[in-house]
Amino acid sequence: HTKKYGDQPYTIYSEELDLQTRYKLTIEKDLKNALRNQEFMLHYQPIVDLESGDITAMEALIRWNHPTLGLVPPDNFIPVSEESGQIIPIGNWVLETACRQNKQWQEAGHGPFKICVNISTIQLQREDFVETLRCILKKTGLDPQWLELEVTEGILMEDTVFLKESLLKLKSLGVSVAIDDFGTGYTSLSYLRQFSFDRVKIDRSFIKDIHTDVNGKAITSTIIALAHRLNIGVIAEGIEDEQQLSFLQGETCDEGQGYYFSRPMAPDKHDFPLLNKK
Ligand code: C2E
Ligand code: MG
Ligand code: MG
Ligand code: MG
Repeated sequence: HTKKYGDQPYTIYSEELDLQTRYKLTIEKDLKNALRNQEFMLHYQPIVDLESGDITAMEALIRWNHPTLGLVPPDNFIPVSEESGQIIPIGNWVLETACRQNKQWQEAGHGPFKICVNISTIQLQREDFVETLRCILKKTGLDPQWLELEVTEGILMEDTVFLKESLLKLKSLGVSVAIDDFGTGYTSLSYLRQFSFDRVKIDRSFIKDIHTDVNGKAITSTIIALAHRLNIGVIAEGIEDEQQLSFLQGETCDEGQGYYFSRPMAPDKHDFPLLNKK
């Protein structure tokens, strides 16, 4: 995974380095108590059917409301929590909170749609992950068909035999699994054949410059066609404007996510009837 701080060149001004070092040290130190202090929260971003405009899913995205640093984005503390092992209790909290939220939405008459939860390699590698997930589903009362786990490609580089087994066990629980940030990692096409993923999320870097970048266009269309040939659904990440949307609709991309539809927001901030009109 990406090292956010350790790889700075030494030509950097020492003041700036100081600041970065201090920021990182504060994060490492305070992360230990963040869960107990209830400083985490989940924001949710809708995933939309590009044909009907209906919400098909909500992705849960963690935020850390730090007492002095303010809102710390996940890219600044998830890697740290993976190194220290704290991703396990944090990840379990995310799963439980997200499943409970989706159950609440269903009970309030919204959806039903899936809840998508990002899972770290560290979590998936644990022998007890499937059992933990079974307990969380039971405890929250969420039907497993409404939970989707998002894993990144990096995960596929690990022990493939163990991974294949875990993914099969997850499938037998009834949850679905998506590949996140597709196209940015080292995934070889054979992984798509070996592991039965339900959906592929095209990384937003391909969508970003789609009107000007012919290669990005070609890659995006090819991923969509490939996924469809394999009977896998496709989600485009990072849709910010109409042009990107109409290109993706023309390429028969199934679903989309991005600021064009909605930013990630606290659960009580979502206005479902409005969102559903697109
Ligand atoms: P991701 O799973 O690929 O999530 C999508 C990221 O893109 C989110 O950033 C989201 O806010 C952002 N995004 C959505 N639409 C747009 C758009 O139209 N334009 C732009 N520029 N960005 C958009 P966020 O929330 O900062 O999360 C970053 C990454 O942190 C996530 O990438 C995911 O890999 C990780 N992450 C977030 N929550 C969790 C969690 O609970 N557990 C784990 N293990 N990782 C998490
Ligand atoms: Mg994701
Ligand atoms: Mg992504
Ligand atoms: Mg990402």
